[in-house]
Amino acid sequence: MIENEQPALAASLWTTKAAPGPEAPALSGEVEADLCIVGGGFAGLSTALHAAEAGLDVVLIEAESLGWGASGRNGGQVLPGLKENPREVEARFGPQGTRMIECAGAAPDLVFDLIERHGISCGAMRAGWISAAMSDGLTAARDRGAQWRALGADVRDLSGPETREMLGGGYYAGALWDRRGGGVQPLSYARGLAGAAASAGVRLYSHTPARRVGHEGQWRIETPSGRVSAQRVALCTNGYSGPLLPELQRNVVPVVSIQIATDRLPRDLTPDILPQRQVVSDTRRQLLYFRRDAEGRFVIGGAGAYGGVGLSRAFRRLEAEALQLFPQLGGLAWQYGWGGRVAVTTDHLPHLAEPAPGLFTAGGFNGRGLAMATMMGRILGRRLAGDAEAEADWPLEPLRPIPLHRFHRLGVRTVIATAGLRDRLRIP
Ligand SMILES: Cc1cc2nc3c(=O)[nH]c(=O)nc-3n(C[C@H](O)[C@H](O)[C@H](O)COP(=O)(O)OP(=O)(O)OC[C@H]3O[C@@H](n4cnc5c(N)ncnc54)[C@H](O)[C@@H]3O)c2cc1C
Repeated sequence: MIENEQPALAASLWTTKAAPGPEAPALSGEVEADLCIVGGGFAGLSTALHAAEAGLDVVLIEAESLGWGASGRNGGQVLPGLKENPREVEARFGPQGTRMIECAGAAPDLVFDLIERHGISCGAMRAGWISAAMSDGLTAARDRGAQWRALGADVRDLSGPETREMLGGGYYAGALWDRRGGGVQPLSYARGLAGAAASAGVRLYSHTPARRVGHEGQWRIETPSGRVSAQRVALCTNGYSGPLLPELQRNVVPVVSIQIATDRLPRDLTPDILPQRQVVSDTRRQLLYFRRDAEGRFVIGGAGAYGGVGLSRAFRRLEAEALQLFPQLGGLAWQYGWGGRVAVTTDHLPHLAEPAPGLFTAGGFNGRGLAMATMMGRILGRRLAGDAEAEADWPLEPLRPIPLHRFHRLGVRTVIATAGLRDRLRIP
């Protein structure tokens, strides 16, 4: 079992309704491959698929079931770009930054192409992403929109009344409508990627935690009832990383995010919520994100807590937030509640690393991993297969452990409390 996991958070709307995935038995005995991937979320599955398509013999092992981590639990929002604006990424990385921004901007295209190419049934909708701002966040949002438009992206400014009309409610002062975004049923998408990987020849194993990774002539990954020997290894364990590689575990802070969902909304709800089915997140520090799924349920997420009383309080707070946004939801039951770990990095960027020759890691998607982890998987999978173009897409950086990482829960609680207070007091 994954360290410190709260099992109750794993049962979600998505687990109840997801399409089945491919067969993935537990590994028993010894197997060999060119590449062993540890972790069966979007990053691991996309790496596996793209490496296999590029000709590598690939084995993927997952500690629980495929898509069990953040990938099967998220909001299903397919978002372009990174947490940081194009200008900041380019200022830090120069021409390499331009390439990173191109990859991040194109990530939703990759997701929807994969869905189409592999016939993945996952309630995909592409009506765009609304990034909604309160009055104190509007100038920054407009500036971000202008930066993306300068790069050719279809991003439109929405006034306050336009935003409220498209949402069917809310209290935002304005928004960006980024037409590249969309929504999917995330667990069905993860299982669909797994199916595509299996068809490309990847051998998938679930209920197979990697217990030790070592190098003896080649990489050897020990599991409870077997072992994988491979030339290269990719650790795609992200916010669920344990002590397998301590510097990877300490490179990200796992922050709990939770969601609640109704059943299908009644047809006569007035005003209707998100009639065109855009996905929405706001730009506050303690942000809310919400959408309707393909069957018309309303799903909303926000800051969680690490367990017990804090978690029940966080669920109640989220219900209250939902009603403040959309009073027309009053009286409807919240049928589902769940959560998972968002892997946050100190520079708000995903990290690709090679801490030892042939041992790669990818993670830290900062709540933007549906599209970006899929894209990073393509970059990593092709890179591992020797594609020089992919090598130039994203820089390798050393894994830098975050100081005082073991106190991260206390730090996160303080940051969440301060962020909420600053949002309420409108302190920039
Ligand atoms: C509640 C929530 C809402 C979110 N909403 C959105 C959203 O709407 N849009 C968006 O873009 N992003 C969202 N995110 C973020 C997104 O889900 C992640 O960025 C993305 O899923 C990361 O994928 P991953 O493959 O890197 O990691 P994960 O999906 O977390 O996969 C890691 C896997 O590694 C496995 N593992 C760990 N240790 C081992 C081991 N030793 N051996 C074998 N396997 C191991 C775990 O079991 C896990 O399945 C959200 C995240 C959460 C938690």
